[in-house]
Parts: sequence; C-alpha cells; structure tokens
Amino acid sequence: MKTLVIGTGGREHALALALSRDPGVSEVHAAPGNPGIGAFATLHDVDPMDGASVAALAREVGADLVVVGPEAPLVAGVADAVRDAGIAVFGPSREAAMLEGSKAFSKEVMAAAGVPTAGSRTCTTSEEVAAALDGFGAPYVVKDDALAAGKGVVVTRDRAEALAHAAACGRVVVEEFLDGPEVSLFAVCDGATAYPLQPAQDFKRIRDGGRGPNTGGMGSYSPLPWAPADLAATVIDTVVQPTLDEMARRGAPFVGCLYVGLALTAAGPRVIEFNCRFGDPDVQPVLALLDSPLGALLHAAATGRLHEVEPPRFRDGASVTVVLASAGYPESSSKGDVVTGVGRANGVADVDVIHAGTALSGDSLVTAGGRVLAVRAVGYDIADARSRAYAAADLIDFPGMQRRSDIAAEPLGVVEGASLTDE
Ligand code: AMP
Repeated sequence: MKTLVIGTGGREHALALALSRDPGVSEVHAAPGNPGIGAFATLHDVDPMDGASVAALAREVGADLVVVGPEAPLVAGVADAVRDAGIAVFGPSREAAMLEGSKAFSKEVMAAAGVPTAGSRTCTTSEEVAAALDGFGAPYVVKDDALAAGKGVVVTRDRAEALAHAAACGRVVVEEFLDGPEVSLFAVCDGATAYPLQPAQDFKRIRDGGRGPNTGGMGSYSPLPWAPADLAATVIDTVVQPTLDEMARRGAPFVGCLYVGLALTAAGPRVIEFNCRFGDPDVQPVLALLDSPLGALLHAAATGRLHEVEPPRFRDGASVTVVLASAGYPESSSKGDVVTGVGRANGVADVDVIHAGTALSGDSLVTAGGRVLAVRAVGYDIADARSRAYAAADLIDFPGMQRRSDIAAEPLGVVEGASLTDE
C-alpha cells in the first residue's frame, strides 16, 4: 500500500511513522511534511489546503490511501477533492467536518443523537449571551462557534470576561461547566461503524500544575489506568455510534477520526467537544502502542469496510510524550533558533523524537513554530515511559526552550481536569 499523509505537524509525523513501520505499507509520502518525516518518507511541496493539487499529487505518486491530518484542509473540503478523484481518503467530507468546524452544528447533532454533553445555548446577541450566562451560572463557558485553533474557548468566573469574549467572537455557544478529568478518545469511523483507539490524556496548560495559558498541548500519555475499563466501549455506544447514525441520516456520513473530548463527571462521561481528526499530541502515545496495522485500518475505514479488519490492538505497557515548545509560546513563537541533540535523543531505546515545528537551515535543524518537538517514549508502565521520555528530552536544547516537568506525573487523571482560564 502506498500512502500519502497531508500536513506538517507532530500528528502527521506520528501517523507517517506508524505507517512506515506497518509491513503492509510499501511507501510513505507526505505533503508538505517536515524534516522529521523527511528522514523516512518522500516529501512533496504541495499546499495542504489546495484540494486539486493534493488529489493530483495522490494520483502522481499512485497513492492507495491519503490521510488528511489537520482540521483546516478537512473543513475546506480537501478530502472531498481526493475522494472525487477516486482515491481512498481517511478524513471526513467538508460537510461532516462541520462537527468540528461549527460548535453550534456539533451541539445540534449531539442533541438530535441524544449524546451526553453539557447543556448549551447558541447566541448571537449580547442579550442572549447575558441570559445564557445567568441561566447556567458560574463558572462560565463561552465558545466561538467557528474554528479558532484552540483559542476560541474561555472558561471563567468573571462574567465581564465571558461577555467580552462573546462580543469579540460573534456567534458563540454558551455552555454549562463540566467538572471532571478530561480524556481524549479517538474513534476510527467508516461512515457507519467505528472502532475506538485506546484513551489518552493531554496536558493543555503551558506550565506545571496546569497553570498559565492554554496551548495546543504540552504532553500526553496512554493508557489511563485510573479511567473506567469500559470507557471506550461506553463512549462508542453512547456517543460515537449515535453520532454516526445521525450524520448518515443527514446525508453526511462521517469517515475519518472522530475525536471525542470528554469530561469524566460525577454523572458519567460528557462530551466537551468533537474534533474531526486525530489530536496532537494525544494521539502520539496511542500510535506508539498500536500493535495492529495502521494502514489496513485506515484504508478499511476510508473504503467503508471497517468490519473486514480486526479492531485495533494495543500492546502492554505505556507511552508518554513530552512537548518542547519555543520561546514565547503560546502567545507567540520564536523561529530560527538552532536545535541540538535530536539525533542523540532519537538514539535512546524506545524513544521517537517527533517533529512539530522544525525546519532545515543549511545543515542545521531550527525552530519553526510554537511547538517544536515532542519526545515520545514507550515503557513497561507510565513511570518507566515517563523517565525514558524525560531522559531523552534532557539531551535536546534550543534557546528559550519551554517544557513541562510534570507530564504524566502523579496524581494521574486529575492534573488537567476542567479548569478555569484565569486560574
Ligand atoms: P474545546 O475547544 O471545546 O475543547 O475547549 C477547550 C478547553 O476548554 C477544553 O479542553 C476544556 O478544558 C475547556 N472546556 C470546554 N468546554 C468546557 C465545559 N463545558 N466545561 C468545562 N471546561 C470546558
């Protein structure tokens, strides 16, 4: 199987790496990819947002499977362009990607499907927002309806801040606050059925102890020994299957990864959000533990034949990913700082250095984004994986490097529960 991965970040590196290690995959191509992916795959300088060019590239390299990584090309219809060219693509249509592209749409689908989630109201005027805030009470949760690259949500006890955020956004969803640890569950979907991957947890704040501003994610681990053993099965039954049925009923079957962000509340799991693609860095440890072929799984999903392949299997043990971010992140990011030690870190047993925002400048690897690298390790258990990841991360340096020291540390599960933006 020849595969083409679309995107440029850590998620795409982790996907491409897992595909390259699948004996059923003969070639891995990426567009545009990054220097880490370039070490084992063929890179192509094609704009991931340009569906026609992506489809043309897929035809040119003879791809049997295209995997579209990020949400922006999915919401822009890049998967449709590839599908229309008769090539199998893992990633939802533009219409189905609205589960992530519009918070109001995703709440509407959840309500129609009877999915357990926070009570919410979609508002367009400040009067509506004020009424909704007072209806739900503090802490207040206000979400930009549109894609906002992780910056659209404010959770606060400050009513004025909640109102100001709503005013800055336009259409917003005001929600009930969900209290409990957050979990990521990825479901591989073929439009009608779904297989869950192993749950993971990510650490969203920039600083130790869950302090400082939200980021795209500063680390992650899997599995979650503290979570209910039947969590994945419960979420497939109560969330994913009803959502797939509802999307199919609307004529927009969901093919790809349905990323279910959950809060494990006292009343049970509640959906915080849907995303239409794998989460980064949460998917990194999950892919490290996958023990069945990724290529066949994604191809079966892309072609509506998920029932013909075995459900994903995971090896014993655990995996931990620690993100190394550039100076100024998340408010800004520093570019062009020379990165050292990646080769040595990659040489540590059971470690992969995943590139998220790097570039080559001559012979040097330099920073090129907010999250620069992720150091992922596999171990016997979480403590073992964690110490391997940090030992390898200690070998890497660049000016202004930021990393958390408490990824996957005790007490597991509660470190990064739903928390206030202003804490
Ligand atoms: P989202 O973009 O919907 O994932 O929201 C970003 C973050 O805001 C989530 O990871 C949660 O930490 C927090 N959040 C979102 N919705 C809620 C909610 N209803 N209750 C508590 N926290 C929330």
